[in-house]
Amino acid sequence: MDLQKIWAPWRLGYVSGSESDEKLSEPQTRRPGASTTCFLCRAAGKYADPSEANRQNLVVSIGKQILTILNRYPYTNGHLLIAPLRHAGELGELTDEEHLEAMQMLTKYTELLTQTIKPEGFNVGLNLGRAAGAGVPGHLHWHLVPRWSGDNNFMPTLAGARIISQSLEAMWEALVEK
Ligand SMILES: [Zn+2]
Repeated sequence: MDLQKIWAPWRLGYVSGSESDEKLSEPQTRRPGASTTCFLCRAAGKYADPSEANRQNLVVSIGKQILTILNRYPYTNGHLLIAPLRHAGELGELTDEEHLEAMQMLTKYTELLTQTIKPEGFNVGLNLGRAAGAGVPGHLHWHLVPRWSGDNNFMPTLAGARIISQSLEAMWEALVEK
């Protein structure tokens, strides 16, 4: 793994929207209640080749109730999304088990990212509703965003841009359970 690339993905340049989500394969089946247009539900679906699907979908882990996935449009390198496997949009819809596992995953990946890419801090947040900036309001997800001093210099450039896939794949390789 080339750590220099992981540390400085913004030096690699971008591919702007040339590789859309539509190219990703569809699961054989989605979970009960899943939305057909939701990328988190797609990532949580059942695939013939789960490890290849996880690579494509950038899924880092699928727990008992919780999915952890790299944001394809990260604010910073290593930006993870932690979501229930179910298509649930409100905190009150989550079970105690889902709340607990979500917090356990936030803790686990904060530690793993700290070991892997040595951020100097994290933002952990939940955007509830479109007015709060939720991109997928029907399927809540915590953002776990590694931060470095001065990283806001490049964040405006990064937001909405797609980091080239080598960098995301290297990050996925570093975090995925094998
Ligand atoms: Zn969903």
